Amino acid sequence: MLSKGEHQTVPLSVLLKRELANEKVERPELSHGQASQSKKGEDFTLLKTECQRVLGDGITTYSVFGLFDGHNGSAAAIYSKENLLNNVLGAIPADLNRDEWVSALPRALVAGFVKTDKDFQERAQTSGTTVTFVIIEGWVVTVASVGDSRCVLESAEGDIYYLSADHRLECNEEERERITSSGGEVGRLNTGGGTEIGPLRCWPGGLCLSRSIGDMDVGEFIVPVPYVKQVKLSSAGGRLIISSDGVWDALSAEVAFDCCRVMPADAAASQIVKEAVQVKGLRDDTTCIVVDIQPPEKPNPPLAPLKKQGKGVFKSMFRKKPSESSSHTGKEFSEPDVVEELFEEGSASLSERLDTKYPVCNMFKLFVCAVCQVEIKPGEGISIHVGSKNSRKLRPWDGPFLCSSCQEKKEAMEGKRPSGDGRYSSGSD
Ligand SMILES: [Zn+2]
Repeated sequence: MLSKGEHQTVPLSVLLKRELANEKVERPELSHGQASQSKKGEDFTLLKTECQRVLGDGITTYSVFGLFDGHNGSAAAIYSKENLLNNVLGAIPADLNRDEWVSALPRALVAGFVKTDKDFQERAQTSGTTVTFVIIEGWVVTVASVGDSRCVLESAEGDIYYLSADHRLECNEEERERITSSGGEVGRLNTGGGTEIGPLRCWPGGLCLSRSIGDMDVGEFIVPVPYVKQVKLSSAGGRLIISSDGVWDALSAEVAFDCCRVMPADAAASQIVKEAVQVKGLRDDTTCIVVDIQPPEKPNPPLAPLKKQGKGVFKSMFRKKPSESSSHTGKEFSEPDVVEELFEEGSASLSERLDTKYPVCNMFKLFVCAVCQVEIKPGEGISIHVGSKNSRKLRPWDGPFLCSSCQEKKEAMEGKRPSGDGRYSSGSD
């Protein structure tokens, strides 16, 4: 039943053993702040700290930070802000213990993003949104993203980690190929006379992004399947910056962290927005969330990692030694002083992302749609592997399964049926 951990760099069971061995299941203290300067009023944020969760092994809390940068209106951003978290939580089976809950998150995020997109599109409203969605459970940070807002981490050790993908067509060749092979066209705006301007866009529609929630009028190959990255911080913590493209078009991650060093989170968020607007002017909605994840013993002054001389060079020299290396604490259990990667996956393919090869497959119920969670009768579910290129020898009981409606959605996302299932065929030729 438990995860085999074969796809994880560090199995959670090892991490938990370490914590138990050190007898400090200490949880970090979080502080956060946000700032925004609005041009179009299409950026929205979700800040939920201290969400309570009753588990088989007690009550714990987690925190959620979301950034939704809407386009062509704000309906999709508002809808995602209001529904995405519930859709993600709804895809996590009940009765999991803490490490199972954390390992179930990457898959539940995929299901929650797709369900939110599908439900929103059924409301037949235009508009779309990027989503950068961050769940913090203890020292584990899980980030799911579609679009071009970004989440970056600076560890207390001074290293910078990119926790989100960039789904801009301009800088993502893999996504351009996926879209063209699913029936979309990628090119620049043609002003007539052969002059092409601006970034690469997807046609019809002219969207610059390859993934988003909403955008039903663009085409279903603009998929809501998120890139997901999960890391565990060292017990020294770190700082997260979650910002819309208004910030990243003006500032590099290094400059963003440098400009607000030693400031508390709320002042840091304001400073980053101020710097970005100074550089580029207020050309777009510019929103920033800063989250400090710190050891409980020193909640105050904000972390101020030393500026590194040569990146990574001195790291091993400064690695702290366990001060009391008792004989029963083997090296397997020593607390590492680095950020550890637990999970990373960015494929746009639902069958890959919901496949049984992922560690917690057995915890998902057989007769429930893996995306929308409706019950399906035995025999009526469609295996996620149907139609996949390298489909193994399939048996009728090989899950996970989709309901017929989610199977239609999956085929549309893969370009195997007309976008919108023919509902919007008039005028599209
Ligand atoms: Zn379904």
